[in-house]
Amino acid sequence: MIDVTRPGTKPQTGKSHIIPNTIRQIEQIFTRMGFEIAQANEVETEQYNFDALNVPEDHPARDMQDTFWIAGVEQTVLRTHTSNTQVRYMESHEPPIRIIAPGRVYRNESIDATHEAQFHQCEGLVVGETISLSNLKHVLLEFLTEFFDNPDTNIRFRPGYFPFVEPGVEVDVSCFRCGNQTGQECNVCKGSGWIEILGAGMVHPHTLAAGGIDADKYQGFAFGMGIERLVMLKYGVDDIRDFYDGDIPFISQF
Ligand SMILES: [Zn+2]
Repeated sequence: MIDVTRPGTKPQTGKSHIIPNTIRQIEQIFTRMGFEIAQANEVETEQYNFDALNVPEDHPARDMQDTFWIAGVEQTVLRTHTSNTQVRYMESHEPPIRIIAPGRVYRNESIDATHEAQFHQCEGLVVGETISLSNLKHVLLEFLTEFFDNPDTNIRFRPGYFPFVEPGVEVDVSCFRCGNQTGQECNVCKGSGWIEILGAGMVHPHTLAAGGIDADKYQGFAFGMGIERLVMLKYGVDDIRDFYDGDIPFISQF
C-alpha cells in the first residue's frame, strides 16, 4: 500500500563549482572598477601566444613554459597563458583599454600538488595616455582587499622578469592568516608575512606595437594571476588536483 503522506527522499542537487564561482566574483570586482570582460581562443597561434608578446623563437623564455602543440597544424598551440588576449584585443580596440580576460590555459608538465596540465588564469590589461605603475598598484590593492575580504590588505612590488612587460614586477600580498607578521609560525606565508600572488608590469613597447598601438603616445600595465592559486590560498586548499577529481564532499564544501 502506498502512503502518499510519507516524506520523500531528497534528491541530490548539483551546484556550480568553486572555480567558475571565483571567476564570477573576480569579474564582479573588476567590472565595478570599470573593466570589461574579454575572451580569446584557447587554441592559439605561436604569433599571439609568444611572438607578439615579445618572446621570439630563440628566446630562453620560450622554454619557461612547457607547451602543448596541436598535432598536424603548424605553429599552433594550446595557449600557455591568458596573455594571448592582450594583442588580440589591442588589434581590434582603440585606447583607452581596460579589460580582464579570465580563462583556461594549458601546460605540458608533470602534475603534482601545485601543478595541473590545465588550469585557469585571469589576465588584466589597461592602456591609456597616462597609465602608470601607481595605477596598477591601486587596482591590485582594491581587488585583493575585496577578494580576500580583509580591509588591512597591503601589497608590495618586487622586480620580476616577464618578456612582455618592462619593468616587470612580482606582486606580494600581506598574509591574511597571520596579519603580515614576520617570524610567526604561519603555514600560509611561511613566516615572511607576505604571499607571492601574481606577476605584472608595464606593457612592453614591442607588445603595444604588435597590437597596433602607438607606443610613443600610449602606455599601459598588464597583470596575470592563477585562479586556482587564489582559491587555494583563500580557502586553505593544499592540492590543486582536488578541484578536478570530481570528489563530491570536497566540491560541496564551498
Ligand atoms: Zn602568514
